[in-house]
Amino acid sequence: MSRPTVLMPVPMHDVVVEGCEERFELLRLWEAADPDALLAERGADVRGLAVGGHRRIDATLFDRLPNLQIVANFGVGYDSVDVDAASERGVIVTNTPGVLDDEVADTAVALLLMTVRELAQAERYLRAGRWAAEGTYPLTDLTVTGRRLGILGLGRIGEAIARRAEPFGMTVGYHNRSEKDVPYRYYPSLLEMARDVDTLMVVVPGNAATRHLVDAEVLEALGPDGVLVNIGRGTVVDEVALIGALKTRTIRAAGLDVYEDEPNVPQELIDLDNAVLLPHVGSASKPTRRAMGQLVVDNLTSWFTEGRALTPVNG
Ligand code: NDP
Repeated sequence: MSRPTVLMPVPMHDVVVEGCEERFELLRLWEAADPDALLAERGADVRGLAVGGHRRIDATLFDRLPNLQIVANFGVGYDSVDVDAASERGVIVTNTPGVLDDEVADTAVALLLMTVRELAQAERYLRAGRWAAEGTYPLTDLTVTGRRLGILGLGRIGEAIARRAEPFGMTVGYHNRSEKDVPYRYYPSLLEMARDVDTLMVVVPGNAATRHLVDAEVLEALGPDGVLVNIGRGTVVDEVALIGALKTRTIRAAGLDVYEDEPNVPQELIDLDNAVLLPHVGSASKPTRRAMGQLVVDNLTSWFTEGRALTPVNG
C-alpha cells in the first residue's frame, strides 16, 4: 500500500519532519517554488496536515485538500486551526496535551516569582553596573508568601500550577465554566474571584469565548497590589486595558508570556518597568518540544494505521 501523503505548510521541529519522512510521503509546502501549483497538482493526494505556529489553518486551505482526514497540531493550544471548518468536513484535529504540563507550570511559577520579586529588573540593575555605583536594589513592595492566587483555567496546566503554588504558601482558587473535584475554592464568576484574590494566573485557551475575559473591570478588582500572570493566550487579556492598569498602578505588576499579536509586543508594554515580558517560552525546552513533536507524529501514525487519533480535540 502506498504511504499516506502529509502536507507541512511551514517548517516544524526535526522530530516531526523526520518522523513524517520515515512513515509518510511528506510535502514541504514552504520549500515549493510555487506553493499554489503544488496544491493544485497534489492537493487531492493529501490525507494529513502537520501544522504549528501562527499560520491560520482554515477553509481556504481545506478547500484545496478534498481528501484531508486529519490535522495534527504541534501545541496544546490550537487556536490557529479553524476546528469548526475541519469538523464540517469530517476532518479530525489533534493537539499535544499532557506532555508539556510540567514545563509550562514551571515557567508560569517562575514568571510569577520574577514579577512579584522584580527579579528581571534586579538582574538588569546589576548588569547595568548600578549595584556598585548606586547601592543595593530597592526593596520590593510585594512578597510571594501569603498571596491569594486565582487561576483562570484550572485544566491540566492550571492544576500543575496549583500544586506548585501550595508549597510557596499561596492560597489557591479557580474559575472555570464548570466546577471540578479539587481541594481549591471554585468561583462561578471571574469577577468575583478577581475581587477575592491579589494574583490572577491566566491558563485558559484562546478562542472566541475567552477573548478579553480579563478586561479593565477584572484588573481593577485585583486591586493596587494585584499581579497578573498570563501563560495562556494573549487574546484572553485586553492588552490596552492592561497597559492602562499598569501605567496608573491600578494593579502593581504583570508577567506575560503571551500577547495579542505575537511576535509584536506593544512598545508601551516594553517601556513599563512593572511588566516582566517573556517571548512565549512556556514549553520551550528541547526535551519538551521533542515530546510534543513525537505526539504529532504518533497521532498521524495511529490515525493512518489504526484509524484512531490519540489526542483528538473534535470528533
Ligand atoms: P485544558 O483544556 O486542560 O484546560 C483549560 C481549562 O480552561 C479548563 O479547565 C477549562 O474548564 C477552562 N476554560 C476553557 N474555556 C473557558 C472559559 N470560556 N471560561 C472559563 N474557563 C474556561 O488545557 P491545558 O491546561 O492543557 O492548556 C491551557 C492553555 O494553555 C492552552 O489552550 C494554551 O492556550 C495555553 N498554553 C500556553 C503555553 C505557552 O507556551 N505559554 C504552552 C501550552 C499551553 P471548563 O471547560 O470547565 O471551562
